[in-house]
Amino acid sequence: MRNKDIDSLFSFIDASPTPYHAVENMLHTLKGHKGIELKENEDWDCETGGLYYVTRNDASIIAFRTPKIVDFSKVAYNMVAAHTDSPCLKLKPIKKDKTANYMQWGVEIYGGPLLNSWLDRDLNISGRINYIHHSKIQQRLISIRDLFFRVPQLALHLDREANKGLKLNSETHMVPVLGLNNNGEQSFEDLILERLNVEGVSVGDISAMDLFFHESQPCSYGGMQQEFIYGPRIDNLAMTHASYEALLLESPKDKISLIASFDHEEIGSSSAHGASSNFLNSVLERITVALGGSRQDFMKILTNSYLISADMAHAFHPNYQDRHDSVHRPLMNKGPVIKTNARMRYATDSQTTSRFVLLCRQAKIPYQTFTGRNDIPCGSTVGPLISTQLGVSTIDVGNPQLGMHSAREMAGSLDHGMMIKVFAELFGE
Ligand SMILES: [Zn+2]
Repeated sequence: MRNKDIDSLFSFIDASPTPYHAVENMLHTLKGHKGIELKENEDWDCETGGLYYVTRNDASIIAFRTPKIVDFSKVAYNMVAAHTDSPCLKLKPIKKDKTANYMQWGVEIYGGPLLNSWLDRDLNISGRINYIHHSKIQQRLISIRDLFFRVPQLALHLDREANKGLKLNSETHMVPVLGLNNNGEQSFEDLILERLNVEGVSVGDISAMDLFFHESQPCSYGGMQQEFIYGPRIDNLAMTHASYEALLLESPKDKISLIASFDHEEIGSSSAHGASSNFLNSVLERITVALGGSRQDFMKILTNSYLISADMAHAFHPNYQDRHDSVHRPLMNKGPVIKTNARMRYATDSQTTSRFVLLCRQAKIPYQTFTGRNDIPCGSTVGPLISTQLGVSTIDVGNPQLGMHSAREMAGSLDHGMMIKVFAELFGE
């Protein structure tokens, strides 16, 4: 069940090892569709029928289309929010002393990865380097894809209990091995400098780095009928990809279509460019003003607006049936999952659900419903955070997947196209 939506998703995920790369790739695509970049520190002037985008800290992005005709009594924001980050291993600022002749560098655990899935995998490293050149702070993205690093697992002979429940210490057991150093081989800093590739810059000019180890194996189809997809960062680059594909597909009539993909969801969203920041709120108000509206108009528009918080969902796991509620069991390739939680860990309610169900009907696709067991607390998303801040009607949805937060996740190959269709239905209003 190969299809063009998944081929496009694979290209996006493989080219986006970090949020910086994801945003850079989206910028490239938006520019290709005649999108116009807006800067937060400049005045905005938006035309009708336009495509615009704005980024914050190169890791969160908001893109939107303005209506063909602006009538403030009809304007509303139709939004889809997702996230650009995924759990991984982040390089610590100062390198570790070498142990025997191994070259190593400590890592912080970013978000909540399934640590075991990071053992014995071929890892690459990518991210952002800041350096000082001619007394100015500069930055450049790097992605080292041709060299592979490892967090080697301890042999069974040295840990006979390993198969009874692996215990991993996040500080001591997860340090990647970068190479051997016997006679002054190239250091890791020299390698970074070589890949930074700026003339006249030395190791001492590198002021700081946001570098992340990540899975190196490209995405692939799986299963007898290619009914599955396997790959890293499906949570949540899949929903980010679906939202911007839909935005590019459809133009709004009298609404404003908008997508927002935030960094830092996996660590709680509290940062200057995370979903709990003023980024979305500020952009929404500025769009109203740039289209000639007042603050009164802005407040009225918010009341009429709708947000789909799109983040991957848990598919029913055949080997752990007791972990799921007995009847709320999302299946792969059976359509988007509406997530509900009575404690509002998901922002869904009956009104926002009904609106989504109607969109599914219009798009002629099926949908499913998820709620967790009362004795297993569920996760959360950017949905409740944004709806609390903006007071906008919000629903939480996502496509079913297995192995969430694994270095390599698994989902269905048909669900992605269906989600794009529902988002496109919303963005055509
Ligand atoms: Zn997620």
